[in-house]
Amino acid sequence: MKFENKVKRDALQRLEHAPKRKGLSQLKKYLSGETLSPKDAILAMCNTCCCNYADGTVSCELYACPLFQFMPFKDKPQSERSG
Ligand code: SF4
Repeated sequence: MKFENKVKRDALQRLEHAPKRKGLSQLKKYLSGETLSPKDAILAMCNTCCCNYADGTVSCELYACPLFQFMPFKDKPQSERSG
């Protein structure tokens, strides 16, 4: 098995019981070998970057990231984080 495929398969297994959050389905599709649209790739990237929003569905507040303008929760500051 190619190393790339092993990495994707292992990542997919780790997400098997992950709670459903924005971008998770797109991330799973990518890891399963599907080709994503640019929009879906961004949703998947922000999901993995925020660890499936384990700390809440809020902005990453990383304004220097080129993807920030498309971040799904960019208008929800971390101060709105619950818990
Ligand atoms: S916008 Fe934020 S969550 Fe998305 S990839 Fe950039 S740093 Fe990560």
